[in-house]
Order: sequence, then structure tokens, then C-alpha cells
Amino acid sequence: MDDQATLYDNHGRRINYVRLAVTDRCNLRCFYCMPEEGIKYVAREDLLTYEEMERLLRLLQGMGITKVRITGGEPFVRRNMIEFLRTICGMGFEKVNITTNGTLTHDVVPELKAMGISSVNLSLDSLDAGRFYEITRRDVFPKVMETFHALIDQGINTKINAVVMDGKNIDDLIPMAELTRDHPVDVRFIEEMPFNGEGSHYPVLEWNHRRIVEHLRGAFPDLEKVPDPPNSTSMNYRVPGFLGKIGIIAAYSRTFCGTCNRIRLTPKGMLKTCLYDNGVFNVRDLMRAGASESQIRDTFLEALGHRAKDGWEAERNRNGGLPVTESMSTIGG
Ligand code: SAM
Ligand code: SF4
Repeated sequence: MDDQATLYDNHGRRINYVRLAVTDRCNLRCFYCMPEEGIKYVAREDLLTYEEMERLLRLLQGMGITKVRITGGEPFVRRNMIEFLRTICGMGFEKVNITTNGTLTHDVVPELKAMGISSVNLSLDSLDAGRFYEITRRDVFPKVMETFHALIDQGINTKINAVVMDGKNIDDLIPMAELTRDHPVDVRFIEEMPFNGEGSHYPVLEWNHRRIVEHLRGAFPDLEKVPDPPNSTSMNYRVPGFLGKIGIIAAYSRTFCGTCNRIRLTPKGMLKTCLYDNGVFNVRDLMRAGASESQIRDTFLEALGHRAKDGWEAERNRNGGLPVTESMSTIGG
């Protein structure tokens, strides 16, 4: 790898992780992510093609990216996703991970295992079918549970992502944490962010990371802190004797920005150097205008040279300081 092309930001942070949102389309309508109706999907011709995504990943690999996460929208609603995943798995990255809602994946888990997917984040906000329906507005809870069991059976490293929502799934927190008793999974509770296509649901965040931990300690008084891996966004805990871990992601409080090692590419090819920024340049347009590899590389280096220090600064720097309102399905989480 050419040292001069290695991606660092202006705060000296090495960037080695890209999150690629392969579509903004989704078969669920999780209320914290999208409005129920009236969503304007990106026109198909405006989505990055598989060839463009592959080209970008190769280029980023040459700049020191070692870890890729495929996300969306729901990645598996995009046609030929399995073939694309197989291509990426063959590219030599250290890790290829997926974030999915698990509704379309129960049959393909053995294929994911065979191609070498390192880890799957399964989004699941409730263990109660009725509440699942209320949150996602789709009646597909059993499909997600089938995926969950298939992932465990195949021995794929599995994390469950649960957004913590005041008045919606608080009764689920303890049963979900209980999953770590007999299953080797990490259950991660995520602070709700205002990326729902409308803006914040609350004047203040009712369930921040501190309140989530206190709530868990009420049920598991011996909950113990365990070391967090480098660049981890979760604060990690364990109940002694349980097989899995419990993580808390302070996604709204933004406690983890100091060690951020990631960039995001949206389905339209926008580079985001922070979840909370507005997108810093459109790499799809650059490619379609005929840019060479070195021109694209230089543009990435330049963009990372002006990166916000943290999510608060990135949010302040958005167009005219406008608040976050876009849907997470256009970003990928
Ligand atoms: N559709 C896939 C899924 O749900 O796993 C992948 C895309 S989804 C946008 C990625 C992650 O973002 C999910 O774990 C989801 O729970 C999380 N997410 C979406 N909207 C959020 C919000 N407003 N606050 C916190 N997390 C959110
Ligand atoms: Fe779809 Fe994932 Fe958003 Fe839910 S969180 S609506 S599954 S993109």
C-alpha cells in the first residue's frame, strides 16, 4: 500500500473501515427510521451500480480500508446481493460484515457462512410479535427469529441491534439482555437518533446510555463492565456466567467520536465522514465524470483533511446548521 494514500483524518485518526449502504429501499417501515408512507426512493439510475461499488472498494482497500460493512436500507432487497457479497468476500478484506433486518435471510445464512461473512448485525427491537409489528409496521417477526436461529446454528458471529424507544420497547430490554444467557450473541442497545425522515420525536432523549445501564442493573445487579475493543462504538458489559455480552451504543450522546475510524458511502455515492454530517462529496458523480483512480483518491484525502472533530461539530456544520431529519435508510446506520 502506498503510504501517501493511507487515509488519515485531520485529527490523526486512521480510517480503516467503510460502511456501504447498497440501497435506500426497505421492506420494513421501522418508525424510528422511516415514515410509514410518502417515502421518495432514490431513482435506480442514481444508485451506485455494483461495478461502481466494487471499484470504490478496491480503491479504498488501497488506501488502508480493511473492514467493510454492507448495510442499507435493507441490503437483501437489492437484486443479486448474494453475488455482490461473494465478490466482496473474495477481495481480501479482513472483515466483511452485514447489517440486516433479517426478514429475507433465513434461507441464505449457510451461503453467507460459506462465502466468509465475518459477522452479522441483526436488527431486532422486540421479542414480542405484537410490539415488533407496532415498531416495524410489518408482520414478519417469525422470519427474523428464523434468521436469528440460523445465524446461531451456523456459528456466525452475531450481534443484535435494538433501538431503545421510550414508550415502545422498554419492556423488551431485560428479555433481550436475557438472550445473552444461553446464546453466544452480543445484544446492543442503541440510543434513538433523530434520523427518522421527520426529525426528533422527543424534546430530550428519555433513554440515554446512562439510563439504559441503570435499568439493566436493576435486573442484573452483578452486571460487569468488560474492556471495549479498539474503535468500539459500544460500551460493553457482561452478566457473569452468561455466554454473550451486552453493549450500549450512545449514538445520540456521541461518546465514542474520539476514536472514530469509519467513513460512510450512501446509496447515491455520497461520502459521509461522520454520521451527522450532510455528505461531503459525491463520489458517484466524480466516477461518472470519468475521474481517474488518483483523482478519486485525492478527493478522499482532501475530504478527510477537513473532517469534523465529532458528531456535534459535524451536525453544527450541516447546511445552515439545519437539524437532522433524513431517514437512516439513506445512510445505513
Ligand atoms: N435495514 C437494515 C437493518 O435494519 O438492520 C440495515 C439498515 S438500518 C438503517 C441500520 C441500523 O440503523 C439498524 O440497526 C437500525 O436499527 C439503526 N437505526 C435506524 N434508524 C435509527 C435511529 N433513528 N436511531 C438509532 N438507530 C437507528
Ligand atoms: Fe428498514 Fe432497517 Fe430502516 Fe427498519 S431500520 S426501516 S429495517 S432500513
